[in-house]
Amino acid sequence: MHKLLTRRLSTAVDKTYDICIVGAGPVGLSLAAKIGNSHYTNGNKICLIESSDVLKSLEENDTFSNRVVSVTPKSRLFLEEIGCWNNIPEEKVYPYNKIQVFDSNFKGSINFNSRYDEETEVSKASTAPKECTPSSSYDPVAYIIENNVIRSSLIKTLKNLNNEIEIFNNTKVNEIILDKGSFNDEWPIIKLDSGKVIQARLLIGADGQNSPVRMAANIESIGWDYDQSGIVGTLKVSGCSTVAFQRFLPTGPIALLPLKDKYMSLVWTLPKNISNLLFNLKKLNLKNDKMIFKEILNTALKNPKEDLLYFFSELEKLNDGKINFQNISEADKLKIELELNAIDFKFEREWGIKRLDSEQGGISVHDTIPVVEDIVKNSVAGFPLRLRNCRTYIGNRIALIGDAAHSIHPLAGQGLNLGLADSEALGRVLIKAIKNGDDFGLDYILEEYNSERYIKNLLMISSCDILEKVFVKVPSQFRIFEDLISFGLNSLNKMDVLKETLKKYAS
Ligand SMILES: Cc1cc2nc3c(=O)[nH]c(=O)nc-3n(C[C@H](O)[C@H](O)[C@H](O)COP(=O)(O)OP(=O)(O)OC[C@H]3O[C@@H](n4cnc5c(N)ncnc54)[C@H](O)[C@@H]3O)c2cc1C
Repeated sequence: MHKLLTRRLSTAVDKTYDICIVGAGPVGLSLAAKIGNSHYTNGNKICLIESSDVLKSLEENDTFSNRVVSVTPKSRLFLEEIGCWNNIPEEKVYPYNKIQVFDSNFKGSINFNSRYDEETEVSKASTAPKECTPSSSYDPVAYIIENNVIRSSLIKTLKNLNNEIEIFNNTKVNEIILDKGSFNDEWPIIKLDSGKVIQARLLIGADGQNSPVRMAANIESIGWDYDQSGIVGTLKVSGCSTVAFQRFLPTGPIALLPLKDKYMSLVWTLPKNISNLLFNLKKLNLKNDKMIFKEILNTALKNPKEDLLYFFSELEKLNDGKINFQNISEADKLKIELELNAIDFKFEREWGIKRLDSEQGGISVHDTIPVVEDIVKNSVAGFPLRLRNCRTYIGNRIALIGDAAHSIHPLAGQGLNLGLADSEALGRVLIKAIKNGDDFGLDYILEEYNSERYIKNLLMISSCDILEKVFVKVPSQFRIFEDLISFGLNSLNKMDVLKETLKKYAS
């Protein structure tokens, strides 16, 4: 305490702010836009600190980024409210009108349709991927948008606000000094890598999964790391589609999200050892590596699950734990190349499809899933997956939002949507307090935000975790449950009321 006080007294502050937001990811930017949009906040000094070059993302880009998010209609309403939605170029918003979810055996499936689809019973027609442009007369299930497009549009929004937000671009928060006293009357001090020192009535951590604000406030984050990676990438597929597909496999779910024309975005959960192996093989720059990845991907999407497990077991044999991929010898590289050439990926995949078709007869359910024809260069990347929720989202003159407060499995595409809902709630609470002339940094004001969001986030985080366990963990460990799960999915698909409730809950 004495040390802290001495440090505080010796810290000269260059400027004070009412609100300081650390992190200009989509969540931090949306909160800045929400607060800056309100005329009640005029006269309040607000700043946003971002360690990367967030202004660079304003540059136009013709290619697709591999990081996309599925934005729900509720998040769209929020983006409209803060004046961001209109800044997103129309050609960069990819709505979809249906999600088709399959179990690993293609025996069970469930569809979530847009309202138009349900009314006109389009869902009963063939869902083979053929439509390129969704009809404008339906409410989409959700919209696929590239992360950097959302960020750029939010930056444009900030530039047109009544209330100016000061942006410290390319500036890292190096140290945060907090008052640990019982009266909470000292404002947090934030030291920047530029040498500047600022102080704020309220410090908001929108600074992602490894949040420095959360760590400085000593707020415990409860959860675990999944032993899985989320592989993302941009794919060129056989036909245009406005349908999103997801298949639950014993190795984790794989999803295709529709972009424009024949492009789709991939989100594929894989056990870490397999994803590491795939990335290590890619680094070797072998002649056939693109073809192999494509065949494995198509197998994951369309074949009997045993075919995929066979490919993975063959790949694992190649490695046998002895090869040091970081420093591989030419001899080991040649050995791997020869062994890979001995596996006829294309033949095995085509044979598996024939087997599946003969088992199911006629047009199979997997026919609706597009075939991957190409993988866009340099688009494949992997991310570690975690489940985390903080013990609380608030501290003394501190609030956490977005990934700084919680992380969720991406299988339901909800991470950013939860973060945007945090922004909306915290922004609303702060604007109300400013309007009433209250000190909005105090616990009792921030508690309104905490109690509104905590349970809702917890419910969504645990629902996604349960889904992962029911559809991935349980069937891979206890095959006996597979048929039960297929039956459950098919039954649920017939229960319109329950399906509508689930859809509303997720949007
Ligand atoms: C594979 C995958 C697929 C996903 N799909 C979806 C989906 O379909 N739908 C969905 O809603 N969500 C999805 N998500 C989740 C979504 O991407 C995240 O929830 C969202 O991007 C989090 O935004 P954020 O602004 O909270 O954090 P971030 O985007 O992580 O932003 C944090 C910012 O803080 C900055 N920062 C950190 N430390 C400092 C510091 N010391 N000083 C200054 N700045 C700092 C960082 O540079 C960064 O810009 C997915 C996630 C993954 C991994």
